[in-house]
Amino acid sequence: EGALYVVATPIGNLEDLSPRAARLLGEVSWVAAEDTRHSARLLRHLGIDKPLVSLHEHNEASRVTALRDALASGQDVALISDAGTPLISDPGFVVVRELRASGHRVIPVPGACALVAALSAAGLATDRFLFEGFLPAKGGARRQRLTAALEREETLVYYESPHRIQATLQDIAALFGTRRVVLARELTKTFETFLDADAETLLARMREDPNQARGEFVIMVAGAEPRDDETQALAEGEAWLAAMLAE
Ligand code: SAM
Repeated sequence: EGALYVVATPIGNLEDLSPRAARLLGEVSWVAAEDTRHSARLLRHLGIDKPLVSLHEHNEASRVTALRDALASGQDVALISDAGTPLISDPGFVVVRELRASGHRVIPVPGACALVAALSAAGLATDRFLFEGFLPAKGGARRQRLTAALEREETLVYYESPHRIQATLQDIAALFGTRRVVLARELTKTFETFLDADAETLLARMREDPNQARGEFVIMVAGAEPRDDETQALAEGEAWLAAMLAE
């Protein structure tokens, strides 16, 4: 019986691949990757020559049978994504769910994950956080999702791309006002930056220095202050008003 190894790969800095991950990528029979061309470069960098099979959101379900057969015939397979930990805003969930359901071994090989790296160095509370992945692309749906998190006391964590970072920060400014936001950009890469301010100030920084709007982002928003029952009702009214104004 083979196993599926869910292997984290770097989110920028290639030194972040663990020795165990490198060894396993060299040992498995083949590698299922989100983008085979992208992952071929990583394997080449590691001096590994392995058959790569694509596994992305559109073909994930149809790959399950082939993976089951491979594991049943004693082959080990590695699952990787373009960056960081598979399944975390990346493909793999269907495969892992189905292989586990059919009693196969699924083994995590931990490593880089942008949300954990961002939280570990941001200086916001980490005892509880709410990871929301990518916000919806459409403005209305995005504001709705943000509004739903307004009263959460956990640190809020979002992934964002350079295409939408400014639109999202505008929505955060409108809804969260002066709430503290830490923006982690280009983690583990040459131009890694942490900016710590309210959303409006972050937008001003991007207007001054357009480089600050480039690259990959983790947005972290401080959780709401705990409230008593009386201020709770008032806060809900305010949140509703803010949502209406943002519309
Ligand atoms: N599976 C990945 C992980 O473990 O973090 C996340 C993949 S998701 C498709 C890509 C998003 O993760 C980016 O849009 C960005 O929000 C975040 N991200 C990935 N690498 C990053 C980095 N080096 N710096 C900041 N954010 C990053």
